[in-house]
Amino acid sequence: MVLSSQTDTVGTTGRALEAVVLRRRFEASIHASRRYRRMTLRVTFLGTSGAVPTPQRSTSALLINRDGDRLLFDCGEGTQRQMMQTGTGFALDGCFVTHLHGDHVYGLPGLLDTLSFNDRDRPLQVYTPPGTKGPLTEWLHGIGGVPDFPVTVTEVTPGETALKADEYRVIVFGVDHDATAVGYALVENDRKGRFDRERAEELGVPVGPKFAQLHEGTPVELEDGRIIEPADVVGPPRPGRRVVYTGDTRPTPQTTTVAADADLLIHDATFRDDHADRAARTGHTTAREAGEIAAAAGARCLALVHLSSRYGDTYGPHRQQAGAAFDGRVIVPEDGDTVDVSFPE
Ligand SMILES: [Zn+2]
Ligand SMILES: [Zn+2]
Repeated sequence: MVLSSQTDTVGTTGRALEAVVLRRRFEASIHASRRYRRMTLRVTFLGTSGAVPTPQRSTSALLINRDGDRLLFDCGEGTQRQMMQTGTGFALDGCFVTHLHGDHVYGLPGLLDTLSFNDRDRPLQVYTPPGTKGPLTEWLHGIGGVPDFPVTVTEVTPGETALKADEYRVIVFGVDHDATAVGYALVENDRKGRFDRERAEELGVPVGPKFAQLHEGTPVELEDGRIIEPADVVGPPRPGRRVVYTGDTRPTPQTTTVAADADLLIHDATFRDDHADRAARTGHTTAREAGEIAAAAGARCLALVHLSSRYGDTYGPHRQQAGAAFDGRVIVPEDGDTVDVSFPE
């Protein structure tokens, strides 16, 4: 596993995905350069324990920073302290709840309280599965009172786009758990195709602004009167990046579909092979099953989370069992670990 802060591989050709884990290197130059910042897709694992916290791990929460947009997925107990310790920042642009089991939401009233205390005035959208808006709102207000800034709780259903931004969207997919639950996927828009500079020069396009025009999709006229079309020198659009978070779930075909070619699949891996029956009974997944889903989906990197405390923070076998089913990169992040997701090419 590469430990590095030099993760901006965008624009290099023929490189496989480098989903690089930055272990406890939180100041690792998020704002090192404009180019880097523009491309940021950083996942910070705030809580990776299932059901109950342990001395090493908090319960479920992760923060995705996409070019400065901070999206929080689940908010287990103690999430705000994890955010402080990892330096993710508190300027949230959305909060996505997978389901109302306590290990995914106990941190929310406290976090809203702190945002209120810090004079946040910007509205915050909280997304939650079907049928959970009432209980969640009641609970939040019952525990923490009404925050001094607008908090809107919105129910989202599988297949729906919860959040649509200029360059990406967060879509909702169905999962299979013993509570009403959903998963979320952050999907970037397609990027422009690759510009074939050599071909452009062969065709006689002069180096300069005409290159940019062609790359932007505008035909150009050369001095000899020939018209060069963008399709002559620009390849097909290239997919953006895709990060999928299942929350708690059994393995499902919906996850395989939504995680097709995902750069990073963050999957429930509560149990190992020895508790496969328990995984099935309680609506969870084993590490091996998560590996099978990642393999079927053709994901590039699989992160195993929601780890049962019964294993005493020994998760080598999780990695091994997932790796037996999946050829891609398997990681078992610790709390505070960060993955910078780069473009596949
Ligand atoms: Zn859980
Ligand atoms: Zn659950």
